[in-house]
Amino acid sequence: MIDLRSDTVTKPTPGMLEAMFNAEVGDDVFEEDPTVKKLEEKVAATFGMEAALYCPSGTMTNQIALRVNTQPQDEVICDKRSHIYLYEGGGMASNSMVSSRLVDGDRGRIDVSQIEANINPDDIHFPRTSLVSLENTVNKGGGCYYSLFQISKIGEFCKANGLRTHLDGARVFNALQESQEQPSAYGDHFNTISVCFSKGLGAPVGSALLGSKEDIKKAKRVRKVFGGGMRQAGYLAAACIYALDNHVERLTEDHRRARSLGEAFEGLPITNSILSVDTNIVIVNLKKPYSPASVLAKLEEKGIRAVPFGPEDIRFVTHLDYDDNQLDETIEIVKKISF
Ligand SMILES: *Cc1c(COP(=O)(O)O)cnc(C)c1O
Repeated sequence: MIDLRSDTVTKPTPGMLEAMFNAEVGDDVFEEDPTVKKLEEKVAATFGMEAALYCPSGTMTNQIALRVNTQPQDEVICDKRSHIYLYEGGGMASNSMVSSRLVDGDRGRIDVSQIEANINPDDIHFPRTSLVSLENTVNKGGGCYYSLFQISKIGEFCKANGLRTHLDGARVFNALQESQEQPSAYGDHFNTISVCFSKGLGAPVGSALLGSKEDIKKAKRVRKVFGGGMRQAGYLAAACIYALDNHVERLTEDHRRARSLGEAFEGLPITNSILSVDTNIVIVNLKKPYSPASVLAKLEEKGIRAVPFGPEDIRFVTHLDYDDNQLDETIEIVKKISF
């Protein structure tokens, strides 16, 4: 099976397993795991942040960030395609008791004018607008990304207007690798950043929340309440350190393969349009009468797995366990697909 359902399906490489096997560990709830500490310091420094907190999932880092950056009854401005809104089970309402103000950005990328137009007046009838949350790359936008310039404009505007900022950076390394920009500048523009190790970076488990020392201290309390305090987590953190050292630059290969895969769908009878492939995500909009279910079933028959992504779309994600041979095989199958 060629599995392109997500970049989360990868297995640890032999080098990564060796790093995990050799990890020095301790009880991280007692703050005694040296490998977790090392990971947290390393990733915080990479993004120009003071501190970090290793957590079991990207959903948890986002949910903790919402709690740390808001008060109950506040409102969060985010794009309507945001993971925090669409794919976290309504957690922002139940975990943080906040509402969302959805804007329709350019494939999920919002700008200063949209933020400005959605800040509520200081009036007791309205929820207090306290946080702006961005996603980079945008999953539902087909892996498109913000430039550092766009991010700095938003960061400066929010700072000047007393709004906090969060980045859902589940795939932020894909954005940085493609734009060839430096992560160190991000720390200036966000109060909190969530970074996933279990997506394109190929680690088995975990995400980090980055922020100021003060915010990460609060985040640690919230993580405990959410049940995310882990004990000898250094075995997992070792895989994340290995991924930061070895799997960032190679993301370019995932992007090249995704572009080739997108091209394979061009001009096919089933294809209505393909979102421009900017990183490792390919979204194909199907022509009627072809439905995601029918096309995915046909692909599955031939040994390729992808996911439905809305009523007319299917999504493919390239990753560490998808090589050029599999790409050639996929292209051959896709070009011959017929009903
Ligand atoms: C995958 C993902 C997350 C978090 O995912 P987990 O499966 O909880 O680790 C958050 N945001 C985006 C954009 C994602 O794609």
